Amino acid sequence: MDRQISSSSSKKACGCAERRGKQNAYIALGSNLGDRVAMIEQACKEMDSRGIKVKRTSSLWETEPMYVLDQDRFVNGACEVETDLEPLSLLDQLQDIEKSMGRRKLIDKGPRNIDLDILLYENEKVDHERLKIPHIGIPEREFVLRPLAELIPQKSIDPSKPWKFIQDYLNELPAAPEPLSTLTPICASVEPLNALKATRKTQVMAILNITPDSFSDGGVHTPDSLRDTIMAYVRGGATIFDIGGQSTAPGTLEVSAQEEMDRILPVIELIRSLPETRDVAISVDTYRASVAEAAVKAGADIVNDVSAGLLDPEMLPTMARLGKTVCLMHMRGNPSTMSKLNEYPEGIIPTIARELLERVAAAEAAGIRRWRIILDPGLGFAKVGEQNLQLLRHFDELRTWPGLEGLPWLVGSSRKSFIGKVTGVPKPMDRVFGTAATVAAAVQGGADIVRVHDVVEMGQVVKMADAIWRY
Ligand code: ATP
Ligand code: CA
Ligand code: CA
Repeated sequence: MDRQISSSSSKKACGCAERRGKQNAYIALGSNLGDRVAMIEQACKEMDSRGIKVKRTSSLWETEPMYVLDQDRFVNGACEVETDLEPLSLLDQLQDIEKSMGRRKLIDKGPRNIDLDILLYENEKVDHERLKIPHIGIPEREFVLRPLAELIPQKSIDPSKPWKFIQDYLNELPAAPEPLSTLTPICASVEPLNALKATRKTQVMAILNITPDSFSDGGVHTPDSLRDTIMAYVRGGATIFDIGGQSTAPGTLEVSAQEEMDRILPVIELIRSLPETRDVAISVDTYRASVAEAAVKAGADIVNDVSAGLLDPEMLPTMARLGKTVCLMHMRGNPSTMSKLNEYPEGIIPTIARELLERVAAAEAAGIRRWRIILDPGLGFAKVGEQNLQLLRHFDELRTWPGLEGLPWLVGSSRKSFIGKVTGVPKPMDRVFGTAATVAAAVQGGADIVRVHDVVEMGQVVKMADAIWRY
Protein backbone atom coordinates (compact mmCIF):
# COMPACT_ATOMS: atom_id res chain seq x y z
CA MET A 1 0.00 0.00 0.00
CA ASP A 2 3.02 2.29 0.29
CA ARG A 3 2.97 5.13 -2.12
CA GLN A 4 5.91 7.38 -2.65
CA ILE A 5 5.15 10.92 -3.73
CA SER A 6 8.10 12.64 -5.31
CA SER A 7 8.26 16.40 -5.74
CA SER A 8 7.67 16.23 -9.44
CA SER A 9 4.59 14.01 -9.36
CA SER A 10 3.08 15.63 -6.30
CA LYS A 11 1.01 18.25 -8.08
CA LYS A 12 -1.08 15.67 -9.79
CA ALA A 13 -1.14 13.19 -6.93
CA CYS A 14 -2.16 15.81 -4.41
CA GLY A 15 -4.55 17.92 -6.45
CA CYS A 16 -7.46 19.09 -4.31
CA ALA A 17 -9.99 17.86 -6.81
CA GLU A 18 -8.92 14.27 -6.47
CA ARG A 19 -11.10 12.33 -4.10
CA ARG A 20 -10.58 8.78 -3.05
CA GLY A 21 -12.91 8.30 -0.16
CA LYS A 22 -12.30 8.40 3.55
CA GLN A 23 -8.71 8.13 4.68
CA ASN A 24 -7.43 7.80 8.22
CA ALA A 25 -4.76 10.15 9.52
CA TYR A 26 -3.21 11.13 12.84
CA ILE A 27 -2.64 14.79 13.62
CA ALA A 28 -0.38 16.16 16.37
CA LEU A 29 -1.84 19.01 18.43
CA GLY A 30 0.45 21.42 20.26
CA SER A 31 0.27 24.80 21.98
CA ASN A 32 2.35 26.80 24.44
CA LEU A 33 0.89 30.29 24.11
CA GLY A 34 -2.35 31.74 25.49
CA ASP A 35 -5.13 29.44 26.71
CA ARG A 36 -3.40 26.30 25.44
CA VAL A 37 -6.30 23.89 25.90
CA ALA A 38 -8.77 26.32 24.34
CA MET A 39 -6.47 26.67 21.31
CA ILE A 40 -6.34 22.92 20.81
CA GLU A 41 -10.11 22.60 21.25
CA GLN A 42 -10.70 25.37 18.73
CA ALA A 43 -8.37 23.68 16.25
CA CYS A 44 -10.34 20.41 16.61
CA LYS A 45 -13.57 22.30 15.98
CA GLU A 46 -12.03 23.94 12.91
CA MET A 47 -10.98 20.56 11.56
CA ASP A 48 -14.48 19.17 12.09
CA SER A 49 -16.05 22.12 10.30
CA ARG A 50 -13.71 21.66 7.31
CA GLY A 51 -14.64 18.00 6.87
CA ILE A 52 -11.52 16.71 8.62
CA LYS A 53 -13.60 14.69 11.04
CA VAL A 54 -12.02 14.23 14.48
CA LYS A 55 -12.90 10.63 15.39
CA ARG A 56 -10.94 10.14 18.59
CA THR A 57 -8.52 12.13 20.67
CA SER A 58 -5.69 11.25 23.02
CA SER A 59 -5.35 12.80 26.43
CA LEU A 60 -3.56 16.12 26.57
CA TRP A 61 -0.05 15.97 28.01
CA GLU A 62 1.84 18.77 29.70
CA THR A 63 5.40 18.75 28.41
CA GLU A 64 8.66 20.61 28.81
CA PRO A 65 9.87 22.40 25.68
CA MET A 66 12.34 20.50 23.49
CA TYR A 67 14.93 22.06 21.13
CA VAL A 68 14.28 25.71 22.18
CA LEU A 69 14.33 25.36 25.95
CA ASP A 70 13.66 28.96 26.97
CA GLN A 71 9.90 28.99 26.47
CA ASP A 72 6.73 27.99 28.36
CA ARG A 73 5.54 24.43 28.82
CA PHE A 74 3.57 22.88 26.01
CA VAL A 75 0.28 21.10 25.94
CA ASN A 76 0.46 18.25 23.43
CA GLY A 77 -1.96 15.68 22.15
CA ALA A 78 -2.99 13.82 19.03
CA CYS A 79 -6.18 12.96 17.25
CA GLU A 80 -7.40 10.44 14.74
CA VAL A 81 -9.17 12.06 11.80
CA GLU A 82 -11.06 10.87 8.78
CA THR A 83 -10.65 12.91 5.62
CA ASP A 84 -10.99 12.62 1.88
CA LEU A 85 -8.25 15.17 1.35
CA GLU A 86 -4.96 14.12 -0.19
CA PRO A 87 -1.94 14.54 2.14
CA LEU A 88 -0.81 17.90 0.69
CA SER A 89 -4.35 19.29 0.67
CA LEU A 90 -4.70 18.18 4.27
CA LEU A 91 -1.48 20.07 5.09
CA ASP A 92 -2.86 23.15 3.30
CA GLN A 93 -6.01 23.01 5.43
CA LEU A 94 -4.07 22.53 8.68
CA GLN A 95 -1.77 25.42 7.87
CA ASP A 96 -4.78 27.55 7.00
CA ILE A 97 -6.32 26.73 10.38
CA GLU A 98 -3.04 27.72 12.10
CA LYS A 99 -3.07 30.99 10.18
CA SER A 100 -6.74 31.71 10.89
CA MET A 101 -6.02 31.18 14.57
CA GLY A 102 -3.34 33.85 14.43
CA ARG A 103 -0.20 31.74 14.46
CA ARG A 104 2.87 33.80 13.72
CA LYS A 105 6.29 32.31 13.32
CA LEU A 106 8.84 34.17 15.39
CA ILE A 107 11.62 31.63 15.78
CA ASP A 108 12.02 28.07 14.57
CA LYS A 109 10.64 25.58 17.15
CA GLY A 110 9.69 28.58 19.27
CA PRO A 111 6.46 29.60 21.03
CA ARG A 112 3.23 29.03 19.11
CA ASN A 113 -0.44 29.21 20.00
CA ILE A 114 -1.23 26.27 17.77
CA ASP A 115 0.76 23.69 15.82
CA LEU A 116 -0.90 21.00 13.72
CA ASP A 117 1.35 18.36 12.17
CA ILE A 118 0.45 15.31 10.14
CA LEU A 119 1.97 12.32 11.95
CA LEU A 120 0.60 9.44 9.88
CA TYR A 121 -1.65 9.10 6.85
CA GLU A 122 -2.95 5.58 6.32
CA ASN A 123 0.23 3.50 5.84
CA GLU A 124 1.63 5.92 3.33
CA LYS A 125 5.06 7.36 3.01
CA VAL A 126 5.26 10.90 1.65
CA ASP A 127 8.55 12.55 0.74
CA HIS A 128 7.85 16.05 -0.54
CA GLU A 129 9.69 19.30 0.13
CA ARG A 130 6.72 20.57 2.13
CA LEU A 131 5.64 17.31 3.68
CA LYS A 132 7.25 14.24 5.21
CA ILE A 133 5.03 11.40 6.39
CA PRO A 134 5.49 9.67 8.81
CA HIS A 135 6.46 12.89 10.60
CA ILE A 136 10.23 12.90 11.07
CA GLY A 137 10.11 13.78 14.77
CA ILE A 138 8.00 10.85 15.98
CA PRO A 139 10.70 8.44 17.25
CA GLU A 140 12.51 11.00 19.43
CA ARG A 141 9.52 12.90 20.78
CA GLU A 142 7.91 11.58 23.93
CA PHE A 143 5.24 14.30 23.60
CA VAL A 144 4.16 12.68 20.33
CA LEU A 145 4.69 9.04 21.27
CA ARG A 146 2.62 9.19 24.50
CA PRO A 147 -0.56 10.48 22.81
CA LEU A 148 -0.06 8.10 19.86
CA ALA A 149 0.38 5.18 22.25
CA GLU A 150 -3.07 5.95 23.66
CA LEU A 151 -4.67 5.95 20.21
CA ILE A 152 -2.77 3.20 18.40
CA PRO A 153 -0.65 1.20 20.84
CA GLN A 154 -0.45 -1.74 18.41
CA LYS A 155 0.52 0.10 15.26
CA SER A 156 3.90 0.28 13.61
CA ILE A 157 5.01 3.61 12.16
CA ASP A 158 7.71 2.18 9.91
CA PRO A 159 6.61 -0.27 7.20
CA SER A 160 10.11 -1.78 7.20
CA LYS A 161 9.71 -2.63 10.91
CA PRO A 162 6.14 -3.88 11.21
CA TRP A 163 6.98 -5.52 14.55
CA LYS A 164 7.99 -2.23 16.17
CA PHE A 165 5.12 -0.57 18.04
CA ILE A 166 4.82 2.93 19.52
CA GLN A 167 5.52 1.55 22.99
CA ASP A 168 8.85 0.15 21.77
CA TYR A 169 9.96 3.64 20.72
CA LEU A 170 8.92 4.95 24.15
CA ASN A 171 10.98 2.24 25.83
CA GLU A 172 14.04 3.32 23.83
CA LEU A 173 13.91 6.96 24.99
CA PRO A 174 16.30 8.03 27.73
CA ALA A 175 14.49 8.30 31.09
CA ALA A 176 12.92 11.73 31.58
CA PRO A 177 13.74 13.59 34.83
CA GLU A 178 10.03 13.54 35.67
CA PRO A 179 7.37 11.34 34.06
CA LEU A 180 4.98 13.22 31.80
CA SER A 181 1.47 13.76 33.09
CA THR A 182 -1.85 14.16 31.43
CA LEU A 183 -3.74 17.38 31.97
CA THR A 184 -7.48 17.76 32.50
CA PRO A 185 -8.85 21.30 32.42
CA ILE A 186 -11.53 22.26 34.96
CA CYS A 187 -12.05 25.99 34.46
CA ALA A 188 -9.97 29.12 34.14
CA SER A 189 -9.70 29.72 37.89
CA VAL A 190 -8.89 26.16 39.03
CA GLU A 191 -5.58 24.49 38.25
CA PRO A 192 -6.00 21.64 35.78
CA LEU A 193 -5.75 18.08 37.13
CA ASN A 194 -2.47 16.25 36.48
CA ALA A 195 -3.55 12.66 37.02
CA LEU A 196 -0.10 11.13 36.58
CA LYS A 197 1.83 13.64 38.64
CA ALA A 198 3.06 12.04 41.88
CA THR A 199 2.98 15.35 43.79
CA ARG A 200 -0.49 16.49 42.73
CA LYS A 201 -2.83 17.80 45.44
CA THR A 202 -6.14 16.03 45.94
CA GLN A 203 -9.03 18.36 45.16
CA VAL A 204 -11.95 18.59 47.60
CA MET A 205 -15.38 18.64 45.99
CA ALA A 206 -18.06 19.91 48.37
CA ILE A 207 -21.50 18.36 48.06
CA LEU A 208 -24.45 20.75 47.98
CA ASN A 209 -27.66 18.77 47.75
CA ILE A 210 -30.59 21.08 47.16
CA THR A 211 -33.15 18.35 47.72
CA PRO A 212 -35.57 17.56 50.51
CA ASP A 213 -34.88 13.82 50.26
CA SER A 214 -31.14 13.23 49.80
CA PHE A 215 -29.94 10.40 51.99
CA SER A 216 -27.57 12.43 54.07
CA ASP A 217 -27.95 16.19 53.82
CA GLY A 218 -31.41 16.46 52.28
CA GLY A 219 -33.33 19.54 53.30
CA VAL A 220 -30.64 21.00 55.57
CA HIS A 221 -29.97 24.13 53.53
CA THR A 222 -32.17 27.19 53.96
CA PRO A 223 -31.42 30.19 51.76
CA ASP A 224 -29.84 32.01 54.70
CA SER A 225 -27.68 29.14 55.86
CA LEU A 226 -26.57 28.29 52.34
CA ARG A 227 -24.37 31.34 51.98
CA ASP A 228 -22.64 30.64 55.31
CA THR A 229 -22.19 26.99 54.38
CA ILE A 230 -20.60 27.91 51.06
CA MET A 231 -18.18 30.30 52.76
CA ALA A 232 -17.22 27.70 55.35
CA TYR A 233 -16.58 25.13 52.62
CA VAL A 234 -14.32 27.50 50.72
CA ARG A 235 -12.36 28.26 53.89
CA GLY A 236 -12.15 24.52 54.50
CA GLY A 237 -10.37 24.03 51.17
CA ALA A 238 -13.15 23.13 48.74
CA THR A 239 -12.15 23.94 45.16
CA ILE A 240 -15.22 22.46 43.49
CA PHE A 241 -18.91 22.58 44.46
CA ASP A 242 -21.11 19.74 43.26
CA ILE A 243 -24.72 20.88 43.12
CA GLY A 244 -27.54 18.38 42.89
CA GLY A 245 -31.29 18.85 42.68
CA GLN A 246 -32.38 15.24 42.28
CA SER A 247 -31.47 12.60 44.83
CA THR A 248 -30.07 9.34 43.47
CA ALA A 249 -30.38 7.49 46.77
CA PRO A 250 -32.14 4.12 46.32
CA GLY A 251 -35.91 4.44 46.28
CA THR A 252 -36.24 8.23 45.89
CA LEU A 253 -38.89 9.81 43.70
CA GLU A 254 -37.97 11.46 40.42
CA VAL A 255 -38.83 15.13 40.23
CA SER A 256 -39.45 16.94 36.95
CA ALA A 257 -36.56 18.52 35.06
CA GLN A 258 -38.15 21.90 35.74
CA GLU A 259 -38.22 21.22 39.49
CA GLU A 260 -34.59 20.10 39.37
CA MET A 261 -33.59 23.33 37.59
CA ASP A 262 -35.63 25.46 39.99
CA ARG A 263 -33.65 23.95 42.83
CA ILE A 264 -30.13 24.25 41.46
CA LEU A 265 -30.02 27.30 39.18
CA PRO A 266 -30.42 29.87 41.99
CA VAL A 267 -27.58 28.17 43.88
CA ILE A 268 -25.27 28.31 40.86
CA GLU A 269 -26.18 31.97 40.44
CA LEU A 270 -25.53 32.60 44.14
CA ILE A 271 -22.07 31.02 44.00
CA ARG A 272 -21.23 32.94 40.85
CA SER A 273 -22.31 36.19 42.51
CA LEU A 274 -20.11 35.89 45.62
CA PRO A 275 -16.61 37.38 45.40
CA GLU A 276 -15.32 34.72 47.81
CA THR A 277 -16.19 31.93 45.41
CA ARG A 278 -14.75 33.54 42.31
CA ASP A 279 -12.05 30.88 42.13
CA VAL A 280 -14.10 27.73 42.73
CA ALA A 281 -15.41 25.45 40.03
CA ILE A 282 -19.06 24.47 39.91
CA SER A 283 -20.15 20.96 39.02
CA VAL A 284 -23.74 19.99 38.32
CA ASP A 285 -24.82 16.57 39.56
CA THR A 286 -27.53 15.50 37.13
CA TYR A 287 -28.39 12.71 34.71
CA ARG A 288 -30.61 14.95 32.58
CA ALA A 289 -29.21 16.69 29.50
CA SER A 290 -31.63 19.63 29.76
CA VAL A 291 -30.60 20.30 33.36
CA ALA A 292 -26.91 20.03 32.48
CA GLU A 293 -27.35 22.53 29.68
CA ALA A 294 -29.24 25.04 31.84
CA ALA A 295 -26.64 24.67 34.60
CA VAL A 296 -23.75 25.32 32.23
CA LYS A 297 -25.57 28.39 30.87
CA ALA A 298 -25.86 29.61 34.47
CA GLY A 299 -22.13 29.14 35.05
CA ALA A 300 -21.38 25.47 35.81
CA ASP A 301 -17.97 24.14 34.72
CA ILE A 302 -18.40 20.38 35.12
CA VAL A 303 -21.27 18.03 34.23
CA ASN A 304 -21.28 15.13 36.71
CA ASP A 305 -23.58 12.34 35.51
CA VAL A 306 -23.95 9.29 37.80
CA SER A 307 -25.19 7.28 34.83
CA ALA A 308 -22.39 8.26 32.41
CA GLY A 309 -25.02 9.02 29.78
CA LEU A 310 -27.07 5.85 30.24
CA LEU A 311 -30.22 7.41 31.71
CA ASP A 312 -30.70 10.16 29.12
CA PRO A 313 -29.77 9.46 25.48
CA GLU A 314 -29.28 13.21 24.94
CA MET A 315 -26.67 13.48 27.67
CA LEU A 316 -23.46 12.52 25.82
CA PRO A 317 -24.19 14.62 22.70
CA THR A 318 -25.16 17.54 24.95
CA MET A 319 -21.92 17.22 26.94
CA ALA A 320 -19.98 17.18 23.67
CA ARG A 321 -21.72 20.31 22.45
CA LEU A 322 -21.25 22.17 25.74
CA GLY A 323 -17.52 21.36 25.66
CA LYS A 324 -17.15 21.33 29.44
CA THR A 325 -15.33 18.77 31.54
CA VAL A 326 -17.52 15.79 32.43
CA CYS A 327 -17.53 13.14 35.11
CA LEU A 328 -18.67 9.64 34.11
CA MET A 329 -19.62 7.35 36.98
CA HIS A 330 -19.94 3.59 37.01
CA MET A 331 -23.43 2.38 37.82
CA ARG A 332 -26.03 0.00 36.44
CA GLY A 333 -29.78 0.32 35.96
CA ASN A 334 -31.35 3.23 37.79
CA PRO A 335 -31.54 4.30 41.43
CA SER A 336 -34.42 1.90 42.15
CA THR A 337 -32.91 -1.16 40.42
CA MET A 338 -29.16 -0.68 40.95
CA SER A 339 -28.83 -2.39 44.35
CA LYS A 340 -29.86 -5.71 42.84
CA LEU A 341 -27.53 -5.37 39.83
CA ASN A 342 -24.43 -6.31 41.76
CA GLU A 343 -22.93 -9.32 39.98
CA TYR A 344 -19.24 -8.93 39.14
CA PRO A 345 -18.33 -12.26 37.54
CA GLU A 346 -14.83 -11.21 36.44
CA GLY A 347 -14.09 -9.58 39.78
CA ILE A 348 -15.02 -6.10 40.90
CA ILE A 349 -12.09 -4.20 39.33
CA PRO A 350 -11.94 -5.92 35.90
CA THR A 351 -15.73 -5.65 35.52
CA ILE A 352 -15.93 -1.97 36.46
CA ALA A 353 -12.95 -1.31 34.16
CA ARG A 354 -14.63 -3.05 31.25
CA GLU A 355 -17.94 -1.25 31.77
CA LEU A 356 -16.26 2.14 32.18
CA LEU A 357 -14.17 1.56 29.04
CA GLU A 358 -17.48 1.15 27.20
CA ARG A 359 -18.76 4.45 28.62
CA VAL A 360 -15.54 6.26 27.69
CA ALA A 361 -15.80 4.89 24.14
CA ALA A 362 -19.44 5.99 23.91
CA ALA A 363 -18.50 9.45 25.20
CA GLU A 364 -15.68 9.78 22.67
CA ALA A 365 -17.92 8.57 19.86
CA ALA A 366 -20.39 11.31 20.83
CA GLY A 367 -17.60 13.88 20.41
CA ILE A 368 -16.45 14.37 24.00
CA ARG A 369 -12.69 14.92 23.96
CA ARG A 370 -10.74 12.45 26.04
CA TRP A 371 -9.00 15.24 27.98
CA ARG A 372 -12.42 16.41 29.21
CA ILE A 373 -13.25 13.10 30.93
CA ILE A 374 -13.06 12.37 34.67
CA LEU A 375 -14.10 8.92 35.95
CA ASP A 376 -15.82 7.82 39.16
CA PRO A 377 -15.91 4.17 40.26
CA GLY A 378 -19.37 4.69 41.80
CA LEU A 379 -19.07 3.50 45.40
CA GLY A 380 -22.52 2.44 46.64
CA PHE A 381 -24.00 2.33 43.11
CA ALA A 382 -24.74 -1.24 41.97
CA LYS A 383 -22.31 -2.35 44.68
CA VAL A 384 -23.17 -3.68 48.11
CA GLY A 385 -21.26 -3.90 51.41
CA GLU A 386 -17.98 -5.74 50.93
CA GLN A 387 -17.81 -4.87 47.22
CA ASN A 388 -17.21 -1.23 48.15
CA LEU A 389 -14.33 -2.25 50.42
CA GLN A 390 -12.78 -4.35 47.66
CA LEU A 391 -13.11 -1.44 45.30
CA LEU A 392 -11.32 0.95 47.66
CA ARG A 393 -8.68 -1.67 48.49
CA HIS A 394 -7.78 -2.24 44.82
CA PHE A 395 -8.58 1.21 43.46
CA ASP A 396 -5.06 1.76 42.11
CA GLU A 397 -5.59 -1.18 39.73
CA LEU A 398 -8.47 0.69 38.12
CA ARG A 399 -6.36 3.79 37.59
CA THR A 400 -3.71 1.83 35.78
CA TRP A 401 -6.08 -0.39 33.79
CA PRO A 402 -5.05 -0.51 30.11
CA GLY A 403 -7.08 2.09 28.26
CA LEU A 404 -7.92 4.07 31.41
CA GLU A 405 -4.41 5.24 32.30
CA GLY A 406 -4.02 8.98 32.56
CA LEU A 407 -7.69 9.71 33.22
CA PRO A 408 -8.36 11.45 36.54
CA TRP A 409 -10.66 9.91 39.16
CA LEU A 410 -13.27 11.29 41.49
CA VAL A 411 -14.11 9.14 44.52
CA GLY A 412 -17.34 9.62 46.45
CA SER A 413 -17.47 7.54 49.61
CA SER A 414 -18.86 10.17 51.94
CA ARG A 415 -21.28 8.87 54.61
CA LYS A 416 -22.36 5.94 52.43
CA SER A 417 -24.08 2.92 53.92
CA PHE A 418 -21.09 0.55 53.65
CA ILE A 419 -19.38 2.87 56.15
CA GLY A 420 -22.41 2.65 58.43
CA LYS A 421 -22.30 -1.13 58.20
CA VAL A 422 -18.65 -1.42 59.18
CA THR A 423 -18.76 1.19 61.94
CA GLY A 424 -22.23 0.44 63.24
CA VAL A 425 -23.30 4.06 62.82
CA PRO A 426 -26.88 4.20 61.52
CA LYS A 427 -27.22 7.95 60.89
CA PRO A 428 -25.32 9.12 57.77
CA MET A 429 -24.35 12.47 59.32
CA ASP A 430 -22.60 10.67 62.17
CA ARG A 431 -20.30 8.69 59.84
CA VAL A 432 -17.55 11.32 59.79
CA PHE A 433 -14.70 9.20 61.18
CA GLY A 434 -15.54 6.22 58.97
CA THR A 435 -15.66 8.57 56.01
CA ALA A 436 -12.23 9.95 57.00
CA ALA A 437 -10.70 6.47 56.71
CA THR A 438 -12.21 5.99 53.24
CA VAL A 439 -10.97 9.41 52.08
CA ALA A 440 -7.44 8.59 53.25
CA ALA A 441 -7.66 5.26 51.41
CA ALA A 442 -8.91 6.99 48.27
CA VAL A 443 -5.94 9.38 48.31
CA GLN A 444 -3.52 6.50 48.84
CA GLY A 445 -5.15 4.68 45.93
CA GLY A 446 -4.71 7.71 43.67
CA ALA A 447 -7.94 9.74 43.71
CA ASP A 448 -7.68 13.17 42.11
CA ILE A 449 -10.90 14.53 43.62
CA VAL A 450 -12.82 13.41 46.72
CA ARG A 451 -16.50 14.29 46.91
CA VAL A 452 -17.52 14.93 50.52
CA HIS A 453 -20.23 16.32 52.79
CA ASP A 454 -17.99 17.08 55.80
CA VAL A 455 -15.84 19.53 53.91
CA VAL A 456 -13.89 21.10 56.76
CA GLU A 457 -13.03 17.75 58.36
CA MET A 458 -12.16 16.02 55.09
CA GLY A 459 -10.15 19.06 54.01
CA GLN A 460 -7.82 18.21 56.90
CA VAL A 461 -7.82 14.48 56.11
CA VAL A 462 -6.85 15.23 52.51
CA LYS A 463 -4.07 17.61 53.57
CA MET A 464 -2.64 14.92 55.82
CA ALA A 465 -3.01 12.15 53.27
CA ASP A 466 -1.40 14.34 50.59
CA ALA A 467 1.51 15.11 52.92
CA ILE A 468 2.08 11.37 53.37
CA TRP A 469 1.59 10.10 49.81
CA ARG A 470 1.86 13.04 47.41
CA TYR A 471 5.25 14.49 48.23
P1 ATP B 1 8.40 20.14 13.40
O1 ATP B 1 7.81 19.82 12.07
O2 ATP B 1 9.81 19.66 13.57
O3 ATP B 1 7.51 19.71 14.54
P2 ATP B 1 7.37 22.81 13.55
O4 ATP B 1 6.05 22.12 13.60
O5 ATP B 1 7.72 23.72 14.64
O6 ATP B 1 8.52 21.71 13.46
P3 ATP B 1 6.52 24.51 11.44
O7 ATP B 1 7.11 25.85 11.38
O8 ATP B 1 5.14 24.38 11.99
O9 ATP B 1 7.54 23.56 12.20
O10 ATP B 1 6.51 23.84 10.01
C1 ATP B 1 7.64 23.84 9.17
C2 ATP B 1 7.33 23.08 7.88
O11 ATP B 1 7.30 21.68 8.10
C3 ATP B 1 5.98 23.36 7.30
O12 ATP B 1 5.98 24.49 6.49
C4 ATP B 1 5.66 22.07 6.51
O13 ATP B 1 5.74 22.30 5.14
C5 ATP B 1 6.76 21.12 6.92
N1 ATP B 1 6.34 19.75 7.19
C6 ATP B 1 7.01 18.66 6.77
N2 ATP B 1 6.39 17.54 7.14
C7 ATP B 1 5.29 17.89 7.83
C8 ATP B 1 4.23 17.16 8.46
N3 ATP B 1 4.23 15.81 8.47
N4 ATP B 1 3.24 17.84 9.06
C9 ATP B 1 3.25 19.21 9.07
N5 ATP B 1 4.22 19.96 8.48
C10 ATP B 1 5.23 19.31 7.86
CA1 CA C 1 5.52 20.43 15.21
CA1 CA D 1 4.13 22.34 12.33
